[in-house]
Amino acid sequence: MAESKTYLEAKAFAKEHIAPWSTAVDKENRFATEAFQKIAEAGYLKLIIPEKYGGQGKGVVEHVDVCRAFAEEVGSVGLCYMMHNVFLWEVMGGGREELIELICKDVVENNALCALAHSEFITGIHFYDPHTDAKAEGDYIVINGAKSMVTSGGSAKYYSVNIPSPIAEGNDHMILELGTEGSTFELERWKNAMGMRANVSCPLKLENVRIPQSNRVESTPGTGADIELNVVVPPFVLGLAGIYTGVLKHMLDEAISHATTRKYPSGQTIGQHDLAAYNIAEIYGRQQACLALTNEAVRAYAAGEEDAIAKVLACRMISIDDVIDMSKLAMRIGAGAAYAGMGELSRLTRDAFGGHIMAPGADMLHLWLGRALLGDELIQPERDI
Ligand SMILES: Cc1cc2nc3c(=O)[nH]c(=O)nc-3n(C[C@H](O)[C@H](O)[C@H](O)COP(=O)(O)OP(=O)(O)OC[C@H]3O[C@@H](n4cnc5c(N)ncnc54)[C@H](O)[C@@H]3O)c2cc1C
Repeated sequence: MAESKTYLEAKAFAKEHIAPWSTAVDKENRFATEAFQKIAEAGYLKLIIPEKYGGQGKGVVEHVDVCRAFAEEVGSVGLCYMMHNVFLWEVMGGGREELIELICKDVVENNALCALAHSEFITGIHFYDPHTDAKAEGDYIVINGAKSMVTSGGSAKYYSVNIPSPIAEGNDHMILELGTEGSTFELERWKNAMGMRANVSCPLKLENVRIPQSNRVESTPGTGADIELNVVVPPFVLGLAGIYTGVLKHMLDEAISHATTRKYPSGQTIGQHDLAAYNIAEIYGRQQACLALTNEAVRAYAAGEEDAIAKVLACRMISIDDVIDMSKLAMRIGAGAAYAGMGELSRLTRDAFGGHIMAPGADMLHLWLGRALLGDELIQPERDI
């Protein structure tokens, strides 16, 4: 399968500027500041911003290619990058020209990084059902509550916070700027995270936080759930499929590298054992299947095809499962060295599990796909929560 120019360039970039930080950000459990400095300098933060705002005007195809290429080196860098693009799509989907211009300008001119603060402790995986307390006070919305896991928490400049709309039936998204009085990122609550550590997905406390009404994403208040489902979910789910296909590629490379270099006194390598070759073939086959399905889903979505949403959900469902399944085989090849933390296999295995946890989660993804195929509504809060 021929790779796109965008992917090949992003891959070369990631090898040079992201890979060197893979061990440090995982060990130190911290945001990949140095890598993001380079990502910004290379113009990747404006990839999907339309040309009329000074961006590169690229779409979901390039978004997924870049997420995958970054994640092949460090999954959590791919994840933070993916959230940034999805935030921009959300803001543009809201249709408020002044806000769109303001944010796009800040990204283009100052490399402002963006993120999503949607999930809450109370409704967990069901991110579209916020219970934060939000009241309108003159030109402001005053918010009290907490978000549970915010990717790039404390490192991004803008966060989209979903709230029950205080002025209409339904939900709104309000743009919170880093440092706004009353908002606190609780980074210490991420310090024992299992994987995806450079993601720093920490809780966000909101105490009498005042956000100007002009920072509302939606031109029609109360339509946040529609934007969430129609604008945010597809590039988010596709981005995650790309990321986990990328993590699986890294696992394959690590397994091959170990299998061809670990030698017994006879001079025989692990890879010369039939079972290792069998396991490597299995990992390769699954990775290629994830890639093919992800590319097909991206194509179908970009083309606006009728059955695109089923393919979108399916590619993430398969890639997040396969990366976990294949980690068992890769760890058998890496064995003692991998278990002891040498090389990247133990990190990749820990990173793999994040895919099942992130909204809408592995189980809900199956449910959503089944519903899509049966012609039912995807989101059915009265049954699910
Ligand atoms: C690495 C990482 C990054 C993240 N980044 C962000 C971010 O940037 N922004 C953000 O808003 N959130 C983020 N999250 C949060 C994430 O999206 C989820 O909302 C959160 O992890 C859900 O946690 P929970 O334990 O409360 O799940 P719960 O809601 O308690 O769910 C527990 C389990 O029950 C299952 N379940 C629940 N209801 C049903 C049902 N009706 N049918 C079938 N199964 C069901 C779920 O699938 C899940 O497996 C991130 C999470 C991770 C791991």
